[in-house]
Amino acid sequence: MNQLVVQKYGGTSVGSIERIKKVAARIARMRKSGLDIVVVVSAMGGETDKLLDMARQINPDPKRREVDLLLSSGERVSSALLSMALDNIGCPSVSMTGRQIGLITDSSHTRARIKEIDTERAKRVLKKKHVIVVAGFQGINEHGDVTTLGRGGSDTSAVALAVALKAERCEIYTDVDGVYTADPNVVPDARKMDRVSYDEMLEMASLGAQVLQFRCVEFCRKYHMPLIVKSSLLDESTGTLICEEDSSMEQAVVSGVMSDKNQAKITIKGVPDQPGIASKIFTGIANASLSIDMIIQNVSEEGLTDISFTLPKEDMDEAIKIVKKLGEVIKAREISADSDICKVSIVGAGMRSNSGVAAKMFEALSGENINIAMISTSEIRVSCIVDEKYAELAVRVLHDTFHVSTEQGEAELNNGAQSA
Ligand code: ASP
Ligand code: MG
Repeated sequence: MNQLVVQKYGGTSVGSIERIKKVAARIARMRKSGLDIVVVVSAMGGETDKLLDMARQINPDPKRREVDLLLSSGERVSSALLSMALDNIGCPSVSMTGRQIGLITDSSHTRARIKEIDTERAKRVLKKKHVIVVAGFQGINEHGDVTTLGRGGSDTSAVALAVALKAERCEIYTDVDGVYTADPNVVPDARKMDRVSYDEMLEMASLGAQVLQFRCVEFCRKYHMPLIVKSSLLDESTGTLICEEDSSMEQAVVSGVMSDKNQAKITIKGVPDQPGIASKIFTGIANASLSIDMIIQNVSEEGLTDISFTLPKEDMDEAIKIVKKLGEVIKAREISADSDICKVSIVGAGMRSNSGVAAKMFEALSGENINIAMISTSEIRVSCIVDEKYAELAVRVLHDTFHVSTEQGEAELNNGAQSA
């Protein structure tokens, strides 16, 4: 058996006929070097948005089942075209939809989770020495209906296939050279990282680093699948390896600074401060498969309290609907929403062994007069909700404060500052 590699090409990489041909040539070269290859493709750049836009022009609130069938077509187009391009240069290949590759999901349309992959057909095709070109981002549920895995879901298709087929590694080809310490468009001296641990990448992916879908990193970490992110546009891209943390990794206190403008905050004011209220609110939201990020509850006054939480902007309207209904039941005084917010975060495995990191972050933000509305932390992350207009400034200031552009990050933090 040859070594098997799963390669995923994103929307930019297959964004035009010329680029599809270029990707085909790259795959054929690697195939010649003796690798078995399963390719996963995204829709051609911008296609998914175009399809969504058409849907909304027809019906402002389309059924999610129909949205899935519509969106899955984008990836089918690019997989069939890439397969044709491969055949045309003498590299035999077969394109496959989610159903054909055996990818079974639950029934949460537009954000389905993978339940299993039936690899029998894929294995047969690989034995025949064909490259398989899979339409990413999609599967079918138990009723045979088409589902999709959430925006950016082709990354997750690729890793799940790599795990199921026991691939050597999974390679994600994109339009950037790897994972950066911050968005280079915002921070000119942001640096490409050579290696990042699963834990750090997981935090970064959940914090607005657009380069990988969160669930894809979750999968890799769970199954110890090495993941490489690199550019399909540059021939000499070394990329970033995402793998188990080890002692050879940089032990920077802060490895990356991220901001996420795709955040909204909902506040429920005047909620009775009684057992069971938070559970009612958040069970209602969880039942709609909406995922909440930060939650704060204020100290109660006269038996009433305020609860605020954040979630992705696109889920705001749905969450408001649910909270309004619940608000009547629990007799809340007022419900308000704010979508002009942003979450800025610092991430670094080195935080585990350094104190005072959070304090230093707050100081840096206050030095720029940036007000912090909410704070949350994990072992290797600190996040603050700030006004959306400060997103770029906050990232630049924090990147600078923690010297993220230099490899060593910084060690001087240890000097007696209080614990984060
Ligand atoms: N085409 C889908 C999207 O734009 C999935 C993907 O590209 O991974 O979100
Ligand atoms: Mg993507």
